[in-house]
Amino acid sequence: MASMMFTDCSSISSTLLHVNGRRGAILFRHCVGQLRLQSSASARGCSISIRCSSSPSSATSVDGKAVAKTIRDEITLDVSRMKESIGVVPGLAVILVGDRKDSATYVRNKKKACESVGIKSLEVRLAEDCSEEQVLKSISCFNDDPSIHGILVQLPLPSHMDEQNILNAVSIEKDVDGFHPLNIGRLAMRGREPLFVPCTPKGCIELLHRYNVEIKGKRAVVIGRSNIVGMPAALLLQREDATVSIIHSRTKNPEEITREADIIIAAVGKPNMVRGSWIKPGAVIIDVGINPVDDPNAPRGYRLVGDVCYEEACQIASAITPVPGGVGPMTIAMLLSNTLISAKRIHNFE
Ligand code: NAP
Repeated sequence: MASMMFTDCSSISSTLLHVNGRRGAILFRHCVGQLRLQSSASARGCSISIRCSSSPSSATSVDGKAVAKTIRDEITLDVSRMKESIGVVPGLAVILVGDRKDSATYVRNKKKACESVGIKSLEVRLAEDCSEEQVLKSISCFNDDPSIHGILVQLPLPSHMDEQNILNAVSIEKDVDGFHPLNIGRLAMRGREPLFVPCTPKGCIELLHRYNVEIKGKRAVVIGRSNIVGMPAALLLQREDATVSIIHSRTKNPEEITREADIIIAAVGKPNMVRGSWIKPGAVIIDVGINPVDDPNAPRGYRLVGDVCYEEACQIASAITPVPGGVGPMTIAMLLSNTLISAKRIHNFE
């Protein structure tokens, strides 16, 4: 893959403890830097409480795959309860424009995930050179379709289309991606509630919750300020009473600022950018980045790494999401969750 960078920080050996997140078992108990993580059986899957400690060790792997599976199981139960009680099946419509292979894969995965929990999914595929009006017409049909509770327009759209215009056309009641300006505006305002929270940042916060990471009063740093990840992640952390700093491409001293953080959410798209020296001992790290890097030993000639140098970070942090298997599975789980929330709200079902 010509576009890939080779960035590696794997020379440092890792003693990472992998956690499978199964219910009902004491899975791990670990001390790192200034913080101690303690896991226990929990109805929500994994559970960690953070306390002060001084013994150095390696980080807990925040198992997004296991947490997402728990959430999907919860959704499956709720979907069947809803079907049995009121005869309604939540429905998600996905609009895919163009032939991008990665977008087609994402859409296929979303459809599969819907099927796995009993959510109905519909897909509309439009040609790369279709008009913006055709996309708007599909959105309008789904806005009016009572069997559809969530509408997702797969991004990026072809360059001749006005993304803002298209996203604005999705009914706010069915905006399961949470990208409508009204939803983002409500997320930013105190005392207002968005109907939906964007899936990836929602997944990051859900991981912190499910691992019992305290957010209130903590210093958080979000690296990246994109509309779909960094910016809403920062707003969510602020809503949970963290003190939040945002780092972007013009930030002058990112390393110094990041080193202050108890919680780091990295959403940059730069492989291994956050090194061990950026991390405060005991910090909790949510790594959103998904970056392919050349690896002649990997079956496909590349492997995926995050924005954080995992091998270095896991020696210093108290907990960290792996890539893959961290935030990625949570994003799809949150899309299913948002679709269920929408169907429940529209049909007034508790
Ligand atoms: P994006 O739209 O390209 O935004 C990247 C952000 O990083 C921008 O705000 C940019 O700052 C900032 N940035 C770039 N270089 C920087 C640097 N050297 N120092 C500090 N900040 C820098 O990317 P995105 O859509 O948010 O995605 C970020 C990463 O997350 C990608 O790897 C993507 O594949 C991954 N992702 C994963 C999931 C998932 O489900 N796991 C979902 C979405 C995205 P400026 O604003 O100043 O340009």
